[in-house]
Amino acid sequence: MAERIAVVGAGQMGNGIAHVFAQAGHSVTLIDVSADALAKGRATIAANLDRQVKKGTVTADAKGVILGRIADGSSLDAAKGASLVIEAATENRDLKFRIFEQLDAAADAGAILATNTSSIAITEIAARTKRPADVIGMHFMNPVPVMQLVEVIRGLATSDATTSRILALSTAIGKTPVEVNDYPGFVANRVLMPMINEAVYCVMEGVGTPEAIDTVMKLGMNHPMGPLTLADFIGLDTCLAIMEVLHQGLGDPKYRPCPLLRKYVAAGWLGRKSGRGFHDYAKA
Ligand code: NAD
Repeated sequence: MAERIAVVGAGQMGNGIAHVFAQAGHSVTLIDVSADALAKGRATIAANLDRQVKKGTVTADAKGVILGRIADGSSLDAAKGASLVIEAATENRDLKFRIFEQLDAAADAGAILATNTSSIAITEIAARTKRPADVIGMHFMNPVPVMQLVEVIRGLATSDATTSRILALSTAIGKTPVEVNDYPGFVANRVLMPMINEAVYCVMEGVGTPEAIDTVMKLGMNHPMGPLTLADFIGLDTCLAIMEVLHQGLGDPKYRPCPLLRKYVAAGWLGRKSGRGFHDYAKA
């Protein structure tokens, strides 16, 4: 059954989430504080739909219908009337706490409030609302229209009913949900980030060049891209932020962010988005 979904944040994740829900027949309100982000988000959805039309997975007529299901909103009040709100705003604890306090007041009673956070505790976000049983993590992977996984994270107070609804809805939009519990980094980043961090130590200690390390992991472990290429794609600032969450949250020195990762971030070498990370994108 078609539902009304509100997505908060029209950045790279938010516009992808709006895209997959609209493609599955739901009506979507895409909310952002920045008019520019909303315009860019809509343009990205249109461009990604064009790619699907070229591939033959979406018809040209369907493209218009899907775009027509997405409305814009400039404040959280636009979440009113939605049965599910998915927050995909900037990864910042205080910002997310504020958004959830406001969403709790703006969204309908009974609406589920989900967050796409990569690392912030679902339990803490839920505690900012008067409906912690209705709050859950819905961690999509980038790029959302392409990647199969949704990591579904239960906070301490998340109810069984909320979890089953999100598992069913994720399957209905063509994704494969996996249920996990709320510990720092959940599963995806708990396993991925220490590997990336270790690859950075290998660069720092001169064990191999970034090209050598990536090639070993691609050809030897059958990874589609090497860990340093992946880190550049995610953003080195994001990788560092997630390592800090693992280090502080679990208190184990094995999660200590590599000093070279800190140095790159301090230099503004953030990966693809800044043109330089472990690989150079300026000449690409
Ligand atoms: P982004 O910077 O591309 O987009 C964030 C958007 O949030 C921006 O458009 C910004 O204007 C908007 N925003 C900020 N404050 C807002 C507010 N108060 N109300 C409404 N909108 C607001 O970031 P992103 O990469 O799309 O990440 C969004 C979330 O998804 C983060 O929590 C991130 O950790 C998570 N995530 C990212 C990835 C990834 O690979 N980038 C993967 C999984 C999860």
